[in-house]
Amino acid sequence: MEEQSLPPQVLLTRAPRGLRMNTETRNSPRTLRLSLRFAQGRNVEVQIAESVRPYVVSVIHHKSAVERSQTSPTGPRLYCLRVPEGKMPEIPNLAEALRRYWGYHEFRPKQENVIRSLLAAHDTCVVMPTGGGKSLCYQLPAVISGKTAVVVSPLIALMQDQAAQLAQIGIPAAAINSFQSSAERRQVMEKAARGAYRLLYLSPERLAAENTFDWLAKVPVGFFAVDEAHCISEWGHEFRPDYRQLSRLRTSFPKLPIAAFTASATRQVRHDILKQLQMRNPHLYIASFHRKNLSYVVHECEPRAQMELLVRALRHYAGESVIVYSPTIRRVEETVEYLEESGIAAIPYHAKMESSMRRQNQERWMSDEVRVLVGTIAFGLGINKPAVRAVIHLSLPKSIEQYYQEAGRAGRDGRPADCVLLWQKRDHVLLEYFIGKISDDAERERSFERKRVISRFADSRGCRHRQICLHFGETPQWERCGNCDNCGAKPEWLRKEIVPVALPEVAARKTSFPPASPASFYTPLLHSEKPRVRDAAPAEADPALAEYLREWRRSMARENKVPAYIILHDSTLEELCRRRPANFAQLKQVPGIGEKKADVYGADILQALRNYGDGARATPMAPKEPAPGEQTLRLLNEGRSFEEIARIRARQISTIVCTVANLVETGQVKLDPKWISPDAQPLIESACLKQGIERLKDIKEAVPPYVSFEDIRLVVAHLRAENRVRAKTA
Ligand SMILES: [Zn+2]
Repeated sequence: MEEQSLPPQVLLTRAPRGLRMNTETRNSPRTLRLSLRFAQGRNVEVQIAESVRPYVVSVIHHKSAVERSQTSPTGPRLYCLRVPEGKMPEIPNLAEALRRYWGYHEFRPKQENVIRSLLAAHDTCVVMPTGGGKSLCYQLPAVISGKTAVVVSPLIALMQDQAAQLAQIGIPAAAINSFQSSAERRQVMEKAARGAYRLLYLSPERLAAENTFDWLAKVPVGFFAVDEAHCISEWGHEFRPDYRQLSRLRTSFPKLPIAAFTASATRQVRHDILKQLQMRNPHLYIASFHRKNLSYVVHECEPRAQMELLVRALRHYAGESVIVYSPTIRRVEETVEYLEESGIAAIPYHAKMESSMRRQNQERWMSDEVRVLVGTIAFGLGINKPAVRAVIHLSLPKSIEQYYQEAGRAGRDGRPADCVLLWQKRDHVLLEYFIGKISDDAERERSFERKRVISRFADSRGCRHRQICLHFGETPQWERCGNCDNCGAKPEWLRKEIVPVALPEVAARKTSFPPASPASFYTPLLHSEKPRVRDAAPAEADPALAEYLREWRRSMARENKVPAYIILHDSTLEELCRRRPANFAQLKQVPGIGEKKADVYGADILQALRNYGDGARATPMAPKEPAPGEQTLRLLNEGRSFEEIARIRARQISTIVCTVANLVETGQVKLDPKWISPDAQPLIESACLKQGIERLKDIKEAVPPYVSFEDIRLVVAHLRAENRVRAKTA
């Protein structure tokens, strides 16, 4: 503990051109040793005696109030400035660190204030929605403080990704978790004690383990950052008893500042966070919960109609990344199967899959190989894909907090995105079943209360944005947002009055990125949908170049054994297409290309751009096995019955009916009256005259109960196809 009470305030600032620094700071009770490695490989070592600490060490060209200086072999001078105890000086170069490491030229709202607050050693509590740039708020101060920030996070996948991402931009970081062997773990712990890391990620379980605090006492910790801090509160929606151990941070390390971060905390939960972590006069930063680029749509559906609506929606978002949340593993699998039958490539993700498969599927989605991912809530923790155009829920979430967090994965690039909740009456039963299994009485009651709140939200006629803000204790100055279903912003694919007209070209859609593979292309069936004009969307990038760079990124990712987005973010890739930098200076102006990235990948990127200019193109994808529709079509043409096809293809009959209906609707096959029960067709047709052919639910209600949904689906498909032919010839 003696060492903990003497942490030297060392700050490395501004490296002149051609100088790499910040390689190692070592701490001993008597002296602080600081080595600076220069580009030419020579070292300069500075020792600062205990009596004159704390110091700011900076390598600069000129500075007043210099106490000591030393000229490095390469010319720049190294200065040490004395600063008063407990006071970090004004940091002039946050923007420089942001540019140098992250390659960004400006901060997002509140980031800079949070960073300054942490650098000034204040306890800090930050509530910032997903996508607001929370992690940078603790990463950047960790980098420039020259000490180790210990980040407590419950999400192992997130820890590993963040450590890998930091390594890519030249910031030493590591995670300690239960997936490592004890030898690996020991190695990380030893290096951490030597101060080798700027960021060190720990799970709450690891923190609670025996000896962890003794070991931490040897690490030159700058501050603690508690991520997902709402987990500490039993009033939060993800209470984790392990998090209660975190109150020991303050008692064991009374001098170190603590920062808490969360994306979704009500007033009550915030209060609990401050109390549990024993924060002292904390600086509070609460960003608005109103994410203007998101459009909320909540729609109750009949069980049979839900899938059709989903297919419609996904056709609308053709070529864009979408997450579909499904309540159970079984429904994840059913949904993927249904979508494939409808000609939409989708991949599943859930907790029961083998972890290698899960990782692979996540990676395929992250790298745009497949655009639609269907997952349980196990998906998405720590996922950072900025260009997600829609998040679609197929059931009521457990709470507003959960909904806000999951839906919030849409539109992190700041461009318009939709959050669609397609719920069913039976969701209540499922939720109540899960809640009923909670053994703790108080927790069960809180869960029921959360369910009551989300049910009210789903049923409400009030502005969705406003309700969410109010839930989190924010009172908007406006009544209506104009960007939710209750404020009149219903997407066209959900409106009743859709009248099919001519087939649009897929290429007519305004997407800045094309689908990554032919498999994710399909012919849209709905026709009145105008291409969506994204007002915030920048100029169109060259799709072939985007595909070429994406292929380059995939090969880099394989080589480096990291996910593709860690090599380059989508937004960076898009910018590269738009700006087409021709040299290093231009490359460094591209947002997301920091110095390390430019060093490591710059030459390759510039070469890839030149190759593209010389005519190189992405390798076309290997032909896939025949689409489900084609297999069914072949079997139909062989004269097989639905039952036989279902058996051969190992599918439900209802799935086969859906495929056939799609074939009928797209005019690839004619409706055969013997597929329909006797007498049903005229009943369905007359119901369609009154109800229209858009909503199967309305037609089902207008025919006698014995008329099956499958028959309705087929007849409606036939009518839609006829309608289209008429519209074309008219
Ligand atoms: Zn609204």
